[in-house]
Amino acid sequence: MIIVMRQQVTPTEIQETVAVVESLGMKPHILHGVERTVVAAIGPERDGMKETFEQAPGVAEVLPILAPYKIASREVKREPTVVKAGSLTVGGGTIGIIAGPCSVENEDQILKAAHGVKAAGATALRGGAYKPRTSPYSFQGLKEEGLKLLAKAREATGLAIVTEVLATEDVGLVADYSDVLQIGARNMQNYRLLEAVGKTKRPVLLKRGPSATMEEFLLAAEYVLDGGNPNVMLCERGIRTFETHTRFTLPLATVPYLQAKTHLPIVVDPSHGTGHTYLVPSMCLASIAAGADGLIVEVHHDPAHAASDGYQTLNLQQFADVVVRCRKVAAAVDRKI
Ligand code: PEP
Ligand code: MN
Repeated sequence: MIIVMRQQVTPTEIQETVAVVESLGMKPHILHGVERTVVAAIGPERDGMKETFEQAPGVAEVLPILAPYKIASREVKREPTVVKAGSLTVGGGTIGIIAGPCSVENEDQILKAAHGVKAAGATALRGGAYKPRTSPYSFQGLKEEGLKLLAKAREATGLAIVTEVLATEDVGLVADYSDVLQIGARNMQNYRLLEAVGKTKRPVLLKRGPSATMEEFLLAAEYVLDGGNPNVMLCERGIRTFETHTRFTLPLATVPYLQAKTHLPIVVDPSHGTGHTYLVPSMCLASIAAGADGLIVEVHHDPAHAASDGYQTLNLQQFADVVVRCRKVAAAVDRKI
């Protein structure tokens, strides 16, 4: 249920309302908006609860939350959530540009990528230290060594680090080195992992599972939010269809759809979404035109020799060119990079 507080509500009244929610066995989540504060009461509902909440101090009205996802829902929070992590801002009119290689390979490679994407206008550096690979014989990432190299790249450029955490037991380590925890598409429904990142203070970039519906995607985000972490970015990265001309099918209608359903910012990944370098620039532009709050793009100084995903990776010049064009599209839709 959504407990909408009166405009002049005091902190004491909010605390008293929270106590009423807890006394009825519900979990309270306080959401401070510009216009109003809301206490979302999450848990099994019983007869008479609505009336009890209505009598709590400072309460203006009590409404049901109709969506199956609660804290993620626009019904609970009308204003868009803006996620900030060091140099990266995503949402509220600012488009975050996360760029870098699929995987961290060595110091020279990650520093070249970091300096190159920064000069081109990226606002965060991506790079996988733990790689989820389809084959157990493919490069699995440098693991902690890769995290250390990412931290060096942050030191050298000031760019926030976005990197994937594959397993629950690695969450603490990856959070120590990075600024944003990426949950990969394969792990979107790894609920223990979602709970674990929900307990950290690091913002989370949650990628859509290739066969996940929008409802499943938003419920996965709900796990992180319910764990106490409000800083979740949703990432459309393409889905599995019958089509083979692209690696995945990138459905950009999900951007305005999600914006209607949730206050969380939406990032698009045109690299995995298409699987071909030559398709990436157009889909970057299209994503921004569709209203995306951020992009995550694979960039390498020498894509032909990348350890993973080189065939969908931009080189530094291609990336610099696309950022120039992205700025124009962003301006046309009243956003800035
Ligand atoms: C990646 O970002 O390199 C990655 C593995 O992405 P996804 O989880 O979307 O496949
Ligand atoms: Mn990749």
